[in-house]
Amino acid sequence: MTGISADRKALLGVFGGTFDPIHCGHIAVADALMGALPLTQIVFVPAARPPHRPRPRASADDRLAMLEIALARDPRFVIDETEYERAGPSYMVDTLAVIRKRHRGPLALILGSDACAGLPGWHRWRRILGLAHLLIVSRPGFDQRLPGWVAPRAVAHGADLLAADHGLAYLFTASARPESATALRAALEEGSAPQAWLPDGVAAYIEAHGLYRKGLDYDET
Ligand code: ATP
Repeated sequence: MTGISADRKALLGVFGGTFDPIHCGHIAVADALMGALPLTQIVFVPAARPPHRPRPRASADDRLAMLEIALARDPRFVIDETEYERAGPSYMVDTLAVIRKRHRGPLALILGSDACAGLPGWHRWRRILGLAHLLIVSRPGFDQRLPGWVAPRAVAHGADLLAADHGLAYLFTASARPESATALRAALEEGSAPQAWLPDGVAAYIEAHGLYRKGLDYDET
């Protein structure tokens, strides 16, 4: 883990994902959140072995390499490789516990509205609310309201997340982005990827490493 802010008053964002591959929607959402909320930094956490979904198409190393290419030029964004350093399933609750040891102030787990809807299925999900706030980003095609179990924790303004270190929720609706990695992988298989969805350098990496081609998968061994 490199360069994570240890400022007690700073709101630190944690953006977990499979990033299979990272797309411009991820970056645009992070950029919009940095502009609208009192966030000091966003930590991107690629899931080495995502437990709650099918196995990714690209290897953990390729997904990390694409993330590094996409985020290299922006000091507001850092990458946390903690899930690559641990064995076993990459549970977000364990990752947040590690980050929490480094950062004692407000922590916000960034989730698209689709991921938020699935949170009650995550490993020890209630503990997540004891470690971080939820910063929920509305996503086209998904319910734009907060799930019932989140609503009692909701605050009206992003800055309200500074009032506590964890346990609150804020719905951010100002950045509707259509990108999805599922749609991108399907397009790449057909050789017709929307270039505008891929951050600079990522399309070249995919091409050079022959990723997401039809019938091709990586060797897990
Ligand atoms: P997939 O289609 O493979 O599930 P994805 O596009 O959802 O991929 P992930 O890496 O799974 O990307 O997502 C990481 C996080 O980013 C999740 O919380 C997800 O909801 C959020 N996210 C991804 N794309 C968007 C988007 N266009 N708008 C808002 N949130 C998004």
